[in-house]
Amino acid sequence: MDQTSQPNRRILRFSAAPSSCAEDGLSVREPAESYLILPSDLLRKTMDGLQKRSAGWRESAGVWAGHVTEDHRWQAEELYLHHDLCDDRGTPLSLELTEAAKFRLYENLALQQLRLIALIHSHPRAWVDLSAVDQRNQLCSRVGFWSIVVSWYARTPWRVDAMGFHVRSPTGWYRLSASEVRKRVQIRE
Ligand SMILES: [Zn+2]
Repeated sequence: MDQTSQPNRRILRFSAAPSSCAEDGLSVREPAESYLILPSDLLRKTMDGLQKRSAGWRESAGVWAGHVTEDHRWQAEELYLHHDLCDDRGTPLSLELTEAAKFRLYENLALQQLRLIALIHSHPRAWVDLSAVDQRNQLCSRVGFWSIVVSWYARTPWRVDAMGFHVRSPTGWYRLSASEVRKRVQIRE
């Protein structure tokens, strides 16, 4: 729905500020370089939804669905916020997507022939690595699936270069460095 077919695309510039913890000796490597293609409208709508649900005190989350191209472009097109899918039982440090809600989501995506692209969720402070619980999250274990963490409960002004971008590899989660984010996360008008 969100402008992926519009011809006039441009890639937003990221600031050169280093992202903390991005190069902290992670040993997981991913074989195929993939790209995350994000319509800017969808990103804004997502951050707005997360910020409202978090309300400054609890975690919030959403799922992006869309298409994956043969040249490894993971294109986000639709947003499903956890709290629209079920009671997400958000707390300052946790939230959940019920099994029933997960299965409804999978069914819905199958009907629409959409694939899971990414999970995005908010953390209370600046730390945007995946927690042990986040790493065990089994929404999607497909190699190439993205998991994005946003800081400060998604409050404004949020910055893409302060988010943690993680990709599922055959051996676990791989966090992109700041330069990899600039290259491989493509936000389009
Ligand atoms: Zn988390």
